Amino acid sequence: DPASLVQVLFHLGEMVTATQSVNEETLQLLGTELEYDVQIVSPEDEDRELLESFDIDFGSDEGDDSDLVQRPPVVTVMGHVDHGKTKLLDAVRHANVVAKEAGGITQHIGAYQVTTEVDGAERAITFVDTPGHEAFTAMRARGAQATDIVILVVAADDGVMPQTIEALNHARAANVPIVVAVNKIDVPNADPSKVRGQLTEYGLVPEEYGGDTMFVDVSAKSRINIDGLLESVVLTADAALDLRANPNMPAQGLAIEAHLDKGRGPVATVLVQRGTLKVGDSMVAGPAHGRVRAMLDEYGNNVEEATPSRPVLVLGLTAVPGAGDKFLVVDDDRMARQIAEKREARARAAANAKRRARRTLEDFMASMEKGETQELLLILKGDVSGSVEALEDALVRIEVGDEVNLRIIDRGVGAINENDVNLAIASNAVIIGFNVRPAGKAGDLAEREGVDVRYYSVIYSAIDDIEAALKGMLKPIY
Ligand code: GDP
Repeated sequence: DPASLVQVLFHLGEMVTATQSVNEETLQLLGTELEYDVQIVSPEDEDRELLESFDIDFGSDEGDDSDLVQRPPVVTVMGHVDHGKTKLLDAVRHANVVAKEAGGITQHIGAYQVTTEVDGAERAITFVDTPGHEAFTAMRARGAQATDIVILVVAADDGVMPQTIEALNHARAANVPIVVAVNKIDVPNADPSKVRGQLTEYGLVPEEYGGDTMFVDVSAKSRINIDGLLESVVLTADAALDLRANPNMPAQGLAIEAHLDKGRGPVATVLVQRGTLKVGDSMVAGPAHGRVRAMLDEYGNNVEEATPSRPVLVLGLTAVPGAGDKFLVVDDDRMARQIAEKREARARAAANAKRRARRTLEDFMASMEKGETQELLLILKGDVSGSVEALEDALVRIEVGDEVNLRIIDRGVGAINENDVNLAIASNAVIIGFNVRPAGKAGDLAEREGVDVRYYSVIYSAIDDIEAALKGMLKPIY
């Protein structure tokens, strides 16, 4: 039980509490001490093992070198806010030959493919339609990497800004080559060479200065040189990457986005990474499964097949997969269902474990009584700044003796939002809402993650509860 583990760790010189996360080294130490063989597996490892038990090897192309054919690069657009990411994605959508003929890309399915002519050859590029590094990094956090190349947008009038560097770092961490789009060259005070100089300082050296990064001056708004940008993406892919995949195998790839459609049921945009996805295939996507009833492209057209790097909207799944979930085609419906059910069960177990590990005021009290905890962390939210200040004043004045400590890690005016809940998750804090409620999805998130959110409209009730918790006398709420 947790308390004994804490004790063993204490003897090993590790001061931890029962609800705290410990690192791999500590877990190994604990295993050795208790004579257990500890194996640490990531969710990705677990999934790989699960698939292996069905004789499926996710992530590798079947066959040998001669089976591999060139596939288009997959691109994500990143950059500082307002530097033109959305506008650029729009411009690319319109610059494309196919789109012009078909009357433009009409459907937002989460990704789209365009073509451009490079050295007389027609080349395709797939764009992920969600700009910014958040989606990119959220996927990576789940062990999924969809992006081959990052277009880093920098406004020529504004230059390098904090999120430019952030995006640069995210792309680097993922080992993804960068093409810089120097945007807004149409504005009078644009200074494209300044952008080049600034980024050189961060190690992104333009080709014309002897480096290996392509910088392309564009205007997303006036649609200047979009073709040049597309060409640079293809050239960078050819120079830096060997993008090939086997189209002749059961399809595998990633779900990029998905939702529940009123008429059509669960719909998911998937990016095929290898193999060819066909209508009628039995597939698993995260915890969802089903037979592909129909596939639509970004023009809203029905398609029968999707080859590597092609994004398509898939109809026919039983549930909505998450962004970054791996999908794969298997032999039959039964196998698809079995894999999906196992994934679902595992996800549920993980969610439960996480919920159990979160701290409520009651848990705090319990672990304090056992001498495991010395500090209660709070986040305060109130309707007006006066009430937040009054609450904070009163809380810090609670006399609790030396052995426990109360720390207010954040306070603010307004509804409890997802940021507050995420902070509480990250630091195991309790949220106190004074005359405020959760906004948007914050309530659901708190519920799902087991974050203790307490609501008060009288300062003294809040003080009483916290004081009682700190003194180990909180009455349970029924
Ligand atoms: P995001 O936050 O990076 O997605 O930026 P947006 O694409 O929303 O663009 C922010 C603002 O800059 C909008 O008002 C755009 O119209 C404007 N904008 C984007 N690209 C250009 C450009 O090439 N030239 C000019 N003059 N304005 C641009």
